[in-house]
Amino acid sequence: MASEPRTDIQPAPLDLPGTGDWLAWVSEHCEGQLAEARRQVGLVKAGSSDAPVVLAAWNKAETALANAEAVALWAEVHPDAGVRDRADDLSQQVQKYVTELGLDRDLYAAFDSLSGDTTGLDDDGRRVLEHTLRDFRRSGVDRDEATRDRLRELSERGVRLSQDFGRNIRDDVRSIRIAPERLAGLPDDYRDAHRPDDDGLVTITTDYPDLVPFLTFGSDAEARHELALAQNNVAWPVNDGVLQDLLAVRRETAGLLGYDSWPDYDTEVKMIGTGQAVADFIDRVGEAAKERAAEEVAVLLERKRRDDPSADSVATYDARYYSELVRREQYDVDGQVVRTYFPFEQVRQGLLDVTGRLFGLEWTPVSPQDARTWHEEVASYDVGLEGRRIGRIHLDLHPREGKYKHAAQFDLVKGIAGAQLPEGVLVCNFSRGLMEHDEVVTLFHEFGHLVHHVLAGQGEWARFSGVATEWDFVEAPSQMLEEWAWDADVLATFARNGAGETIPAELVAGMRRADHFGKGTYAVQQMSYAARSYWFHAVPHDDLTAYGDELQRRYSVFPPLDGAHMHCAFGHLDGYSSGYYTYMWSLVIAKDLFSAFDTDDLFAPEVAHAYRDKVLAMGGRGDAADLVADFLGRPYSFDSWAAWLAE
Ligand SMILES: [Zn+2]
Repeated sequence: MASEPRTDIQPAPLDLPGTGDWLAWVSEHCEGQLAEARRQVGLVKAGSSDAPVVLAAWNKAETALANAEAVALWAEVHPDAGVRDRADDLSQQVQKYVTELGLDRDLYAAFDSLSGDTTGLDDDGRRVLEHTLRDFRRSGVDRDEATRDRLRELSERGVRLSQDFGRNIRDDVRSIRIAPERLAGLPDDYRDAHRPDDDGLVTITTDYPDLVPFLTFGSDAEARHELALAQNNVAWPVNDGVLQDLLAVRRETAGLLGYDSWPDYDTEVKMIGTGQAVADFIDRVGEAAKERAAEEVAVLLERKRRDDPSADSVATYDARYYSELVRREQYDVDGQVVRTYFPFEQVRQGLLDVTGRLFGLEWTPVSPQDARTWHEEVASYDVGLEGRRIGRIHLDLHPREGKYKHAAQFDLVKGIAGAQLPEGVLVCNFSRGLMEHDEVVTLFHEFGHLVHHVLAGQGEWARFSGVATEWDFVEAPSQMLEEWAWDADVLATFARNGAGETIPAELVAGMRRADHFGKGTYAVQQMSYAARSYWFHAVPHDDLTAYGDELQRRYSVFPPLDGAHMHCAFGHLDGYSSGYYTYMWSLVIAKDLFSAFDTDDLFAPEVAHAYRDKVLAMGGRGDAADLVADFLGRPYSFDSWAAWLAE
């Protein structure tokens, strides 16, 4: 980080309205930033031939645009539905303007005329110019007018469809109502939180804190089946048509831009490079994991037959439950015992302590009066490095009505040296009491994105600020950080039960062995999702349910669930489009990155700090493959991942 420009005057955090008028604030903030972006774009178009002058104005425009785009956060988390709707409208306006810019020939000409003489630019400046010109070409600025008009229409339509797809999932919480005895197998605190209503029935929703324990511990197979069906029908049938329209928009867009398919267009700016490489990667992983997955599913089936001697397959809604039983009975790991070591507050503090020590960061709590956030449950912290404030984070970690249903990091502010302090938000849906170990791992994962966002927010260029690397690399730092949530010495620093006893090292060793047990089925299941994401975009199909089922049969060891329409609830089909392979691709890179660490001492500062400075803090300043090679001292490879799978 030493090479980053530094100033002594640190920018202040964003001034949020707290208990004030959010509706007005969100509008004014977003519209103000959009006006600033327009002003700076005007300066870019004013016709200077001085590259540093043009790029400086463009950097301010991109900064303002990023600030305006961050309004999307409020659509996902604000407790007031009016603010969420307004944020959706504003997001549409911002995206419309972004599309307009991409097709603006005068703006393009202002950059194109610079490419002959870049002598006044340093390496970063030249990279900004190269990437900007590439973006213009990818948005179709050099096409004829009729084509540009059509691209503009498609883009606006795509934005609306994306929003519809997400909203339909977010707003559709389903539930089942069952007799209390059908909660057999679930832990006491879960049963306490799910008391029978006046009709004597218990409601279980598809929100994660309800769903995940039920599918893990609930011994009533038919109840698990009902709940899984409810979950797999979220946003069905409405999202089926929305998705078909969205796929058509993407296909036509790629065609107009001269690509053979949407995946070819999409992967051009990714590590993986081509659509065909995605198809090959899915098959390569599927093949590598096939045998192992078959062995694991045989173990699950054998265990299931003790309950149901006539069983001839393991259903998707059995997978978690029997995996848990096998872990308990064959690996001596009882998830209900494990979770007693993970009370939420303790885990949150433990995570801060662990990442603080690892990356040399200090987390200072900010009082709700100072942070002035959107909800009383949000915990805010200032991030310090070597005594200097380098960012602020907000942790919004519990479910509530109308809130985003999954786990993700959102940008609030992109960091720009001397201009604005990076701020990021973790949006998750964890229980307020005891956490499953899975949830602890998810928290470490998401926190990896947050740390990346803040550390990479100390430079000059908006373009490279935060998690600004190729999209199929972005999961790697997070997946690597998950390793710390599996290490006995690390867990011993915060995992303690109500009696104050630290989680035993033997239990963690058992958890790790048990976790290895599921990795074959995990890999093939992931490939069945990745195949949906890729093939839905690569080749049109009238019946996405039937085609999804076919891909499930081809890749997964669990048969498709009759009556399920999981593609309607599969939010990543929007956000990742054809790129869901990203998770496994990033895991390959994550295992390679992790090979540089000493597993006997995960806190060893030298390697952790080298990783912080050479990979995380670089943001988008280099190609991911080059950043990884710089850290590892060699190009990335599949070897560590293959060894892990075979382990
Ligand atoms: Zn992630």
